[in-house]
Amino acid sequence: MDLNSPRGTADIFGEELGYRNFIEGTAKKLFSLFNYQEIKTPAFEHTEVFSRGIGENTDIVQKEMYTFEDKKGRSLTLRPEGTASVVRAIIEHKLYSGRLPLKVYYNGNMFRYERPQKGRMREFHQLGVEAVGVSNPAIDAEVIWLANQLFGEIGFKDLTLLVNSIGCHKCRKDFIKKFKAYIEPKKDKLCRDCKNRFSNNPLRIFDCKKKSCVNVISNSPKIYNYLCKDCREHIEKVIAYLKNLNINYEIDYNLVRGFDYYTKTIFEVISRQIKSAQNALGGGGRYDHLIGQFGGPDMPAIGFAIGVDRTAMLMKQLGIKPRGRGKKKKVYLIAMDESYYSFLLEVAKFLRNIFICEINFSIKSVGSELKWAEKNNFDFAIIIGEQEVKDSKITVKDIRAFKQYEFNWLTEKDNLMEFLKGK
Ligand code: AMP
Repeated sequence: MDLNSPRGTADIFGEELGYRNFIEGTAKKLFSLFNYQEIKTPAFEHTEVFSRGIGENTDIVQKEMYTFEDKKGRSLTLRPEGTASVVRAIIEHKLYSGRLPLKVYYNGNMFRYERPQKGRMREFHQLGVEAVGVSNPAIDAEVIWLANQLFGEIGFKDLTLLVNSIGCHKCRKDFIKKFKAYIEPKKDKLCRDCKNRFSNNPLRIFDCKKKSCVNVISNSPKIYNYLCKDCREHIEKVIAYLKNLNINYEIDYNLVRGFDYYTKTIFEVISRQIKSAQNALGGGGRYDHLIGQFGGPDMPAIGFAIGVDRTAMLMKQLGIKPRGRGKKKKVYLIAMDESYYSFLLEVAKFLRNIFICEINFSIKSVGSELKWAEKNNFDFAIIIGEQEVKDSKITVKDIRAFKQYEFNWLTEKDNLMEFLKGK
């Protein structure tokens, strides 16, 4: 029997969890400053939500979905990303019927059957936002600003923001004709997947990381140069707003991103310090037809998702530490005999209103208990022995200062609290 976690999944605990909680806490704080509300959707959906939403001819749908039949023969799929599920929920509950934009964020585990490697898991975690119902390019800039600021608040300084436009259905169609005409004579040099992409979904060739394919597209026509008037004006305004906000960006003419639902603005945040294809920390874009395509009103939208696992990985590589939010003090309560626990529990109940308290449940020597407390970053130890119980007094040891103080439990409770707070 294999009792290890399945390939591409991870147990997350201890210090690693501290990084994740810090990223999530920072994101939630910032999302609420931008006035986004949380939404939670199921971890699995009817398969069509993803196959139709993400696109039949994408790698995710063709190769990477965890799809299974339930006991009634329904085809279900573990979510490989957040947007399609959120859009499904928005339509199901008509969340678009209030004031627009509707602004929601999500945080959850995602599943893709990929070849696991550093920074690429089969179960991973994303935090994302979706802003629905506004086509004004100012909201594109606001959403990009939010993604950019989030990485800044986490503590990153040298990330690169890549921006591109992949136009609308109309200009993309014209571009694809030109692009295919350029690729046709070089088709033999493409990898097997890209040969298929050439017929089914040519834009996906830009996503291929294989050297031969990268070479083929290096001098190919770029969609940015073939945008219609409306799409060009849109991306130019987005860029002007980014400049206005002092946000550094690069236009990446080869950026297409892996989902078919995108229109116009797309973006990605990458780290050039990660020397691998897995250097993207997050990305997003506009998807103006997905809601209509799912049977909702034809309503524009834009969003992004960041990868929590990869963000935590890069924080560690770059020495960015999670910052504590007003770290709570820690008190270790030591009873020297079984019979002192009722007094000790009473003290713990009082102190736990404010402090992190740990109790010794097996009785060892005071010396070894204090050593343990010091090693585990406790600020104070409270020792309850025969004398303490007899005199109703509390003996507090300041672990780092090696000093000892006494308080009367009946008359000096408040002094004790103030003393512990104030140190
Ligand atoms: P995507 O939904 O593909 O645009 O990905 C958004 C972000 O999620 C990426 O930039 C990564 O940080 C993260 N991500 C995507 N796929 C994986 C994976 N298989 N393992 C870990 N992180 C991932």
